Amino acid sequence: MQGGGGLVRTPHFGSLAVRASPHLEVQELNNKTKMDIECPYCGEEFDINHDDGFGYAEGVKHHQECPHCEKSFVFETSISFYYEPEKADCMNGDAHDYRLSSTYPRELSQMQCSTCGDIRQLSDDERSKFNIGTKESYFESLKQ
Ligand SMILES: [Zn+2]
Ligand SMILES: [Zn+2]
Repeated sequence: MQGGGGLVRTPHFGSLAVRASPHLEVQELNNKTKMDIECPYCGEEFDINHDDGFGYAEGVKHHQECPHCEKSFVFETSISFYYEPEKADCMNGDAHDYRLSSTYPRELSQMQCSTCGDIRQLSDDERSKFNIGTKESYFESLKQ
């Protein structure tokens, strides 16, 4: 038996495909997803260019070339979900913690509860307190 059989295959681009289990870290940063990957050959870390959603599909062998050693390798993405339970007293009888949304134009601002995410319109008191006109006044001002 030659070569011991094994899982190493030679893909069409001629480089050795390693069964990489690179450390793939997906971080949510300012709504921008950044993926760091570690090259299984040289160990250098780099960012994956994920334009067009590249690299997101799960269970697919994505081809990647290392910008440091220029070897090709494959990686698979697995997406995991995690849950962070928080107490939501406002859903159990306590008052909501409504905060003013930062919306433009300000007339379309809403109040959102920082705890449970509930959204409601501003009361008249709040409009005068935050000095925010009504939606109607905003649309009226556009007509002028
Ligand atoms: Zn490398
Ligand atoms: Zn709430």
